Amino acid sequence: MCSPILLGNSIQSWTTRGLFDQMTVNPNFEPARTEAVVRIDGHVDVLYEMLEAHSDVSFDNLPDLAVTVDKMKSVDVVAAVFALYCPDEYDGSGSKDFLAHLLAYAERLLKGLFHIKSAQDLSDCIRLKRPGMILLIENSDGLIEFDRTMLAQAGVRVAGLTHMGRNRLGDGNAVPFPEGLTEQGKDLVKELAREGFAFDAAHLAEPGFRDLVRLHEGPLISSHTGVRALADIPRNLTRNQVAAIIEHKGVIGIAADPKMLTLSGKASIDDIFHHIDWIAQSFGADAIGIGTDFCGFEGINAGFEDITKMTDLERIMREHGYPEKSIRAIMGENWRIFYESLLQ
Ligand SMILES: [Zn+2]
Repeated sequence: MCSPILLGNSIQSWTTRGLFDQMTVNPNFEPARTEAVVRIDGHVDVLYEMLEAHSDVSFDNLPDLAVTVDKMKSVDVVAAVFALYCPDEYDGSGSKDFLAHLLAYAERLLKGLFHIKSAQDLSDCIRLKRPGMILLIENSDGLIEFDRTMLAQAGVRVAGLTHMGRNRLGDGNAVPFPEGLTEQGKDLVKELAREGFAFDAAHLAEPGFRDLVRLHEGPLISSHTGVRALADIPRNLTRNQVAAIIEHKGVIGIAADPKMLTLSGKASIDDIFHHIDWIAQSFGADAIGIGTDFCGFEGINAGFEDITKMTDLERIMREHGYPEKSIRAIMGENWRIFYESLLQ
């Protein structure tokens, strides 16, 4: 890559020659501009809202959702990670079929988005500014019996082991006196790790988290979360967990859900910034991302009502003196690096 000084010099010489000369000498030449911000949302719960409230209506016919193709396009959000969320009520005998149903539902009704299944697909979406979707599993109980070759074909490479409750793999964040991973959970972690999966610790209770980091040396993320230093609830990450995710070369997606951001349950875009800032001040910006959880929570985040507000978050970071490099990392570059490596 050119240093800024070299790039500046080369532009001067190009601009004196005129467009035609530029094209004949170097057809790949691109005029200088500030490097575009790659925007990626690391967790949305759109499929859940579609299933609950709109059943058979395709994504491109739901203009009022917090995430739509047009809204993504309007601020160049090039990818969102859609959760295949399996409610705990299906855990056990019903979870495999529900996961199959969700996967088929996503393929059929997430219209208007390019389905990203490989690193190349993601690069293409970024290059062409074409909104794409990546799929992630939220509650992997069904993976015990599921035909995982279907997941590979759909580019699904991230598994969140639990939702809030207890499943056959371990305990989620709402289980009182939670225990670690079950034997079935540990076995599945080893199998999935061998198959190249990363894990999403977003809903995993602390004892299970400790088991997971002991068993798995590969990538680990928390796709949608806050930090306990600012909202001390089991759902959020402790300092040690943040450090563990960074050690595992993961990304921490800060959510817009007011319940994860403040103890009062009321939150604004400034609270999203505060959670970002706590990690940035403690650990730097290289593992921070955005994972809004749009369509997966009740209530409104004031100033961050839908995905178009991503650019307002950038403005707040700029006002606080964040370097452009850090802003780009947080808004999508960290997720890009993570998913491009995972989807090789
Ligand atoms: Zn969730």
